[in-house]
Amino acid sequence: MTTVLTTQDVARIVQRVGLPDLLRRLVANLESDYLRWAEFDKTPRVAAHSPDGVIELMPIADASLYSFKYVNGHPKNHRFGLPTVMAFGVLADVATGAPALLSELTLTTAMRTAATSVMVAKRLARPDSRVMALIGNGAQSEFQALAFHHLLGIRELRLYDIDPAATAKLVRHLSRTPGLTLTVCASTAEAVKGADIVTTVTADKTNATILTPDMIEPGMHINGVGGDCPGKTELHRGVLEMARVICEFEPQSRIEGDMQQMPADFPVTEFWRVLAGEAAGRESREQVTVFDSVGFALEDFSALRLLHDMARQLGLGAPLDLIPQMADPKDLFGELHLSGQLQAA
Ligand code: NAD
Repeated sequence: MTTVLTTQDVARIVQRVGLPDLLRRLVANLESDYLRWAEFDKTPRVAAHSPDGVIELMPIADASLYSFKYVNGHPKNHRFGLPTVMAFGVLADVATGAPALLSELTLTTAMRTAATSVMVAKRLARPDSRVMALIGNGAQSEFQALAFHHLLGIRELRLYDIDPAATAKLVRHLSRTPGLTLTVCASTAEAVKGADIVTTVTADKTNATILTPDMIEPGMHINGVGGDCPGKTELHRGVLEMARVICEFEPQSRIEGDMQQMPADFPVTEFWRVLAGEAAGRESREQVTVFDSVGFALEDFSALRLLHDMARQLGLGAPLDLIPQMADPKDLFGELHLSGQLQAA
């Protein structure tokens, strides 16, 4: 039987272990999978574009497990009462092809994206970073904020969104977090000034310039999360030109990341090489670093693996009759239970 995990099940997992611990476990899974980079069969995700959004399939496999995620990105979705990003995914056994887990991945995407941001920032941001600007205060923002606070030591968040209601919601959720100071800012420039880390997590299907070169100070680390689709960027190209740029999977990031604005020979480094010690992360205190995050299938593979393990440990999830359970695997027709009707005819 396939195990199904609903949004409520994933929320229960988070409630049982606590969000900081879950994020730590996600980082551990991500690091162990990124260190096995060569073992994965990798491909850029398959995208179906439409005027207001994109629907994507993200497959990946190693020798024993296969996963895919279905995910969309529709920045105008709030008009219909829907989130910008919605997702679900499957983890399957490579040896037989049997789907072991069917899980919600909307909440999980927000957690794995935040865990990925922190995993990369641990190697790229200055180690004494304490102040982060958070531009874009929508669905992903609490997860980014809390991951950087609990796992990286960020103590002050400087917040900006063009929608004041989004910032008010973020403040409502974070205001009782001990040791975290929140400052609501009137513009991106005000939020970014003096920050050690700048996280951009805005949603707009356009070539936006949320960050321009004049806002960038020496030594800043930019965690660019929202530019993740052709025609949807957040960073002025001048910001990329002044920085060391790290990506997930280069063939996908060249199409989808902020680096889509740059020529094909623009130098970028895949993160797994930094993690494995094959390439440098930050090279000096003054260097500006950019994580041009787009979201890679490996991160969902790591997250699905964790959900599967934790659901088993905590006794969560329900069996789903997705694949026929046949006494004779060759007797698929028998599953229709039509024999009475056939005799009658
Ligand atoms: P959301 O729609 O809930 O929130 C986006 C926020 O950005 C909104 O509050 C909006 O008002 C704000 N915004 C838009 N333009 C802005 C601007 N110019 N300045 C400041 N704020 C602005 O979306 P979300 O679920 O939080 O996702 C945010 C982005 O992150 C999306 O573009 C999504 O595709 C992307 N994303 C990337 C990854 C990844 O792995 N890199 C994963 C998940 C989501």
